Amino acid sequence: MQQLKEYIINDTNSTVLVDELMKKHTTYGIGGPAEMFVLPSNKEDLIRVFEISREANQEINVIGSGSNLLVSDNGIKGVVICIKDCLKNLEVNNNKIYAECGVMLGKLVRESIKNNLKGLENLVGVPGTLGGALIMNAGAWGGEVSNCLKSVELLDPDNQLVTLLKSEIDFGYRSSSFRNGSILLSAIFDLTLSDENLIKDQSQIAQSGRKDTQPLNYRSAGSVFKNPSKDNPAGMLIDKAGLKGLTIGQAQISEKHANFFVNVGDAKAEEMLALIKKAKSTVKDKFDIEMNLEVKLMGFEEREIESL
Ligand SMILES: Cc1cc2nc3c(=O)[nH]c(=O)nc-3n(C[C@H](O)[C@H](O)[C@H](O)COP(=O)(O)OP(=O)(O)OC[C@H]3O[C@@H](n4cnc5c(N)ncnc54)[C@H](O)[C@@H]3O)c2cc1C
Repeated sequence: MQQLKEYIINDTNSTVLVDELMKKHTTYGIGGPAEMFVLPSNKEDLIRVFEISREANQEINVIGSGSNLLVSDNGIKGVVICIKDCLKNLEVNNNKIYAECGVMLGKLVRESIKNNLKGLENLVGVPGTLGGALIMNAGAWGGEVSNCLKSVELLDPDNQLVTLLKSEIDFGYRSSSFRNGSILLSAIFDLTLSDENLIKDQSQIAQSGRKDTQPLNYRSAGSVFKNPSKDNPAGMLIDKAGLKGLTIGQAQISEKHANFFVNVGDAKAEEMLALIKKAKSTVKDKFDIEMNLEVKLMGFEEREIESL
């Protein structure tokens, strides 16, 4: 690792941190040390860091702002590449927006609204970077980030720069078909010029709906489970199972929204995972409904998460 650190520092302008606590980089405020945590300073550095880490046969994980992640207390082996501080360019050109994947989704949404461009306004208030949003196909209040997408540029797992048209990507409910190990770099959105007030009103509805229903004063990673169906949202099922407010250590199923699990102090991943398993198994036992995770797990051993 020391040698790899020197290679990266000598070859790029990246910040390289050893044994960096992931709790500093996740909205849960949970997670043990990443063996090596790299913040590249630009696209060229990012590509080089990826190349060097691959040549060193390191496991590589990419993160944005960690708003959809539960990271193990034991941390993450290998190299974590964090792109939240690089890839920040954003350009508006008529009804098209080009944005790099380190841009915060909130900034992209604000820019679209400012330019009277319709298509992204429902996503107001969704935290995270554009890269994370595309991987997750983030969505809210009926809108999804893929709706007005034209193309995505990425570095594929073989270190090749590739541009995919939207038609070449399968987007589903909180899912996308990008090959495992790809790093998303930028995207182009094709939006519709529309009435300023209409767009603002819609974003207001989305924003206030979020404030009314979500426990935004606690650390969370948003919805823990995907909704099994429209009629059976995960929050309702967990609530009906009588689990609202259930607390294990410092991890709690929110009283306000039962699909938000919150860190009420200095929760451990182990405690959050125990809550997740409890909710999943109770809902299965009571209603015979399988709930699948929306939150992504990083750094856990297979045996710890096999029931999920
Ligand atoms: C309070 C709160 C409210 C939320 N509300 C919503 C909501 O309404 N709708 C919704 O969809 N989500 C919601 N979320 C979840 C989260 O904000 C989204 O999933 C977000 O898109 C994740 O972005 P991120 O940059 O934080 O990604 P991360 O959490 O850092 O990563 C998520 C996944 O994307 C991968 N990834 C990230 N960037 C890249 C990249 N450039 N290239 C390749 N892979 C990458 C990671 O490896 C990981 O698998 C909420 C979260 C919080 C905390």
